[in-house]
Amino acid sequence: MRKKLCFDCKKSFNLSSDDLGLSNFKCPECGNQAIVVTHRFRPPKAGDNRKWEVVKFLVKNGFPYQHISIYEPDRHGIQRFIKYARYPENMIDAIEFVEQHKLQALKNNG
Ligand SMILES: [Zn+2]
Repeated sequence: MRKKLCFDCKKSFNLSSDDLGLSNFKCPECGNQAIVVTHRFRPPKAGDNRKWEVVKFLVKNGFPYQHISIYEPDRHGIQRFIKYARYPENMIDAIEFVEQHKLQALKNNG
């Protein structure tokens, strides 16, 4: 399941059947371009501009709320999956997150 997200309205919408097969998504409210994120995205409150800036930053850097895996080496030095990363909610953590997980960033997003 995916959602589309409009940074102008600061809202997310479930993809409708009209959206299937499209590569460009429009906001159903303002008609501007919407960005596709995963169902894991939880929109901040509309007035919470700081959190929205964090969302924008993450999406622009290739993190539309896909699963990000954290690996740690086991005792043989082999990287093992540990858990999925939690998405940050403030800019300081977001900058660190993007740097730390840049190999898992999606290209050409947003
Ligand atoms: Zn909109």
